[in-house]
Amino acid sequence: MTASILIKNQVKMHTEILKINPKNPQLSKIRQAAKVIKSGNLVAFPTETVYGLGANALDSRSVKKIFVAKGRPSDNPLIVHISDISDLKMLVDHIPNTAHKLIAKFWPGPLTLVLKKSKIVPKITTGGINTVAIRMPENKIAQALIRETGVPIAAPSANISGRPSPTIAKHVFDDLGGKINMILDGGKTKIGIESTVIDLSRKHPSLLRPGGISLEQLQSLIGKIALPSSIHERKSKLIHRSPGMKYRHYSPNAKIILIEGSKDKVKNKTLHLLAQFQKQGKKVGIMSISNTKYKSDMTVFLGNKLDVLAANLFNTFREFDVKKIDVILVHGINRKGLGLGIMNRLEKAAYKKIKID
Ligand code: AMP
Ligand code: MG
Repeated sequence: MTASILIKNQVKMHTEILKINPKNPQLSKIRQAAKVIKSGNLVAFPTETVYGLGANALDSRSVKKIFVAKGRPSDNPLIVHISDISDLKMLVDHIPNTAHKLIAKFWPGPLTLVLKKSKIVPKITTGGINTVAIRMPENKIAQALIRETGVPIAAPSANISGRPSPTIAKHVFDDLGGKINMILDGGKTKIGIESTVIDLSRKHPSLLRPGGISLEQLQSLIGKIALPSSIHERKSKLIHRSPGMKYRHYSPNAKIILIEGSKDKVKNKTLHLLAQFQKQGKKVGIMSISNTKYKSDMTVFLGNKLDVLAANLFNTFREFDVKKIDVILVHGINRKGLGLGIMNRLEKAAYKKIKID
């Protein structure tokens, strides 16, 4: 199937921003948002991972609006969000044992399961394929919204396709203001990178996207999980299984150069590239693993707390854009735990990767 991007001359609309209490979402505001989705339109809302752009997952015309607003290629399937485990049955053909185990431990939470889809899920929602990705979010606003609309909600990240995922309502407005009906502003999202996606539609489970739940956590529960060695690469077999992976993602306007290797070598390479780009008159940003004081236009220390790093990653990308940085030199981190998901985002956002042995 050929991918097409559903961009039309869109009519600018008023985007209403509703501030809502994340700990105890006001029912009146949830009802207002649910009304928008029930009438076939779009609402951006927070989940524990990133902000999602929601529409009724079972209605083709509503779902099409998501692809148009984001400029998302039509073969990139959406994750369907539910608020109750009992909603899963109507969306899938079969629930394997591994799914039951994972659901019992990780739902609600940042884990998405890919299963054979049932007939009621429209093809547009799944990008034309016969599996569907499903997740039950933990965020109270997301849960209340799904419950109140009474339908599963398809929700990709609420950014323009290819841009960093939004972790605050302002990011959503910057990308989609004037293109969507409503944003529920529930503050900063907790995890900051997207859900882990695991494919259970085949004989053996395989990881399609590392994310909020670590590979180690999944392995300790269900054992072996296929992890294609090329999970980070765009041109792998995996792209057929998870179409979203072939597209450039998460990218700020600045060009990201990802540098991996021992601390000293990474530092030397950084100093060399910094001098080289500054000579060309470029504004250089650095995301650094050490406390070295570089004479860059903006340096952000990655620190050693992976959860803090994940929570701030996409916001940092956008801050480099605000400062009009041309090139960001990013230091690679260890791929353990959340590190695998963070490195996956960095690699997909990168314009160039340098590995120094
Ligand atoms: P997003 O919601 O924008 O973070 O992207 C959803 C991710 O899940 C993309 O990488 C999709 O390719 C992937 N995905 C969604 N549905 C499926 C599916 N049925 N099979 C494989 N991957 C999927
Ligand atoms: Mg996305």
